[in-house]
Amino acid sequence: MMIDHYWIAFIMVVSWLLGVLDASAGDADLQYRACVKNCEETGCVGQRCFPQCKFSMEGVSIDVPWYMREPLYLQWKQWDCQSDCRYYCMLDREKEREAFGHGPVKYHGKWPFKRVYGIQEPVSVAFSALNLAIHFHGWLSFFILLYYKLPLNKDKKAYYEYASLWHIYGFLSMNSWFWSAVFHSRDVDLTEKLDYSSVVALLGYSLILAILRIFNVRNEAARVMVAAPLLAFVTTHIMYLNFYKLDYGWNMKVCVVMAVAQLLLWVIWGGVSRHPSRQKLWVVVVGGGLAMLLEIYDFPPYKGFLDAHALWHATTIPLTYIWWSFIRDDAEFLTANLLKKAK
Ligand SMILES: [Zn+2]
Repeated sequence: MMIDHYWIAFIMVVSWLLGVLDASAGDADLQYRACVKNCEETGCVGQRCFPQCKFSMEGVSIDVPWYMREPLYLQWKQWDCQSDCRYYCMLDREKEREAFGHGPVKYHGKWPFKRVYGIQEPVSVAFSALNLAIHFHGWLSFFILLYYKLPLNKDKKAYYEYASLWHIYGFLSMNSWFWSAVFHSRDVDLTEKLDYSSVVALLGYSLILAILRIFNVRNEAARVMVAAPLLAFVTTHIMYLNFYKLDYGWNMKVCVVMAVAQLLLWVIWGGVSRHPSRQKLWVVVVGGGLAMLLEIYDFPPYKGFLDAHALWHATTIPLTYIWWSFIRDDAEFLTANLLKKAK
């Protein structure tokens, strides 16, 4: 019996320690914690008060008309209250720390960013929007090349056999940058899941696309055979993240493996196949690899705005431009090859 008690005590201590270690330095700070707790009760940090913090202990808001008392609306209100309390307590705490000559620390896993018009990470949002725009430009010029510049076959279809695969790729890329912009503007559970899910969908799909193009899989049945197991895995992983557990460590591993696999496939194939635009492939892969270092070397935001993650979103802008240029070259190259064979 005694041994049982020791075990329970031991497990409790370990889980408490894990909880402490799991928190970031900023939100483990007692002064910050007291500030947030006080703010959630009174709705104020110093002179600044938040009307959205006015809900009673039962979670039913007071002085709001009945039609506004929807559960979803209340949830938003609670999120708003919590996020405003955390934000202004963080600003106050960081100001104090700065006065003592201390550098910034992370709060709830994130650096202390300054908001602009309520947008949490304005620089990352701007770069995400630029990425989206570059993808749209790339996809549009690919579309124009295929259907207006290159010759079409008798059925008015492009000769290039990977056209529809790249159209879907363009859509998934733009979708993922859209949710990235939303997530960096407002970080709540829902926007985080949408961002993570669309990144996983994009990475999984582009791995399938890389395999199909590299091994010249043109037959419909063979394409399904290759895609099915990967699609099944990616779908399961997305469901796991959304409905079971948003496990950051595991998700990071899955994403890194899928990303590295396709980068290696492209690089090696570029050399082996002597593809006429292999230099572009190499630039994208080397650039992408170097950009990944920014995610590892995670420095705090300069002036509260420009951090390593935002810079990493900036580096993908020129790389995306080169990448779509490679895709257009590939379409031209394969179309020319097919026409040569036909003659
Ligand atoms: Zn991001």
